[in-house]
Amino acid sequence: MPNMSLKKNEMPVQQANVRNKNFSEVALGYTEEQALDEAERCLNCKNMPCRSGCPVSIDIPAFIAKVREKDYEGAYEIIAESSSLPAVCGRVCPQETQCESKCVRGIKGEPVGIGRLERFVADWHNAHSTEPPKAPAKNGHKCAVIGAGPSGLTCAGDLAKMGYDVTVFEALHLAGGVLVYGIPEFRLPKSIVQREVDNLKALGVKVETNVVIGRTISIDELFEQGYEAIFIGSGAGLPRFMNIPGENLKGVYSANEFLTRVNLMKAYKENSDTPIKKNTNVAVVGGGNVAMDAARCAKRLGAENVYIVYRRGEEEMPARNEEIEHAKEEGIIFKTLNNPVEILGNEHKFVTGMKCVEMELGEPDQSGRRRPIEKPDSEFVLDVDCVVMSIGTSPNPLIRNTTAGLETNRHGCFVADENGATSLKGVFAGGDAVTGAATVILAMGAGKTAAKAMDEYIKSKQM
Ligand SMILES: Cc1cc2nc3c(=O)[nH]c(=O)nc-3n(C[C@H](O)[C@H](O)[C@H](O)COP(=O)(O)OP(=O)(O)OC[C@H]3O[C@@H](n4cnc5c(N)ncnc54)[C@H](O)[C@@H]3O)c2cc1C
Repeated sequence: MPNMSLKKNEMPVQQANVRNKNFSEVALGYTEEQALDEAERCLNCKNMPCRSGCPVSIDIPAFIAKVREKDYEGAYEIIAESSSLPAVCGRVCPQETQCESKCVRGIKGEPVGIGRLERFVADWHNAHSTEPPKAPAKNGHKCAVIGAGPSGLTCAGDLAKMGYDVTVFEALHLAGGVLVYGIPEFRLPKSIVQREVDNLKALGVKVETNVVIGRTISIDELFEQGYEAIFIGSGAGLPRFMNIPGENLKGVYSANEFLTRVNLMKAYKENSDTPIKKNTNVAVVGGGNVAMDAARCAKRLGAENVYIVYRRGEEEMPARNEEIEHAKEEGIIFKTLNNPVEILGNEHKFVTGMKCVEMELGEPDQSGRRRPIEKPDSEFVLDVDCVVMSIGTSPNPLIRNTTAGLETNRHGCFVADENGATSLKGVFAGGDAVTGAATVILAMGAGKTAAKAMDEYIKSKQM
């Protein structure tokens, strides 16, 4: 008999007033007992609606059935057929809008905790399997991958498994993309990403860090060096600003810069000498996951008051509900229906406050969300000395500007067909560089699709 409880097994978490002072993982993961109990909630539906909600079509009922049998390695193998980063996706995928949104148990209660079970299985595998994967025999062909984020790493892994000699070129000094420079340690421990990168290296993938394509070497030069197909997975790391007065004052960061200093440059470690503003009053402008991450990092760095300043209401916030709840529990102050109009500074050009106006919601705009309209005579000053702008990103134009014939759209994203093929022969692209800022699982899916297309492209040249 399935477990007909209407509620998911709760995820054990660190207490809010403890965790908001440390960078250890917030969610602690299911115990075996909880995982088995949760797996019993799955009805094993014949038509598998959950699977249709997964961007990489993991056979969810089959892996949950393996959990029920306590065959955790079997469950892992099923997930790994479709996903190359299960321990990452089990932690950061927005399951509530994907697989879990289709689960029939969600009609009269909470859906099965598919993401939590995925994390349990992946962590079990990582704790019990010590053997690195074996490198397959080489097929004599070379491919290059630009960017070591989830799209590039997935593409590289799949190509290596097909026997290609793959080199990943990464601009930063560490592989992982947003997984290492953006998503904080307390949501995704970096050791998990490092393990995935180590596994890729065991498969024979070469990772060259500190190489900026378009500066250190161009795409044309990569072809001259004998790479037969190239995948661009360079992400969307160029921050947007509001273009209001005061944005160039000291103490104003883009969310990417702030998070890179905290995560990649380890400002969160006590003895770190990475420059960053600590123990301040911080305003984070924006309402997405990135804004929540920045606010929660600022709190952990010792800020007294951390504000989320968002021009719409909480219902319109694009961040995951779980992230909003966690941020609130940790003491982040939400100032919704507020919009900054100027950042104020002193004679030394340090931030001293942020002038805001109150907003109200009008008719829905093109995005379907109600348009925020400024309330007359509602100006006020928020007492902050640090401002983090988190209002979106777009792809960096460097590769586009240094590669003739590579088509981009008006948002600066590479134009690619459903297989990832771009306007240049032999050049494929995927992930945020094509879609604009999206999700880890979509980036991984794009890397997978492109690897297959690159293989077909190289084989077609030999005929
Ligand atoms: C703070 C933050 C939190 C997020 N939280 C979530 C979440 O909880 N769940 C979720 O699903 N998604 C989340 N996302 C989105 C998700 O991380 C991205 O959609 C995903 O990482 C995109 O993968 P990618 O491989 O396309 O690009 P990226 O991860 O951006 O990787 C691109 C890589 O390319 C490198 N690169 C760029 N230009 C060059 C060049 N010219 N030469 C060489 N290398 C280059 C970059 O340094 C980077 O390492 C978050 C994003 C951010 C910023």
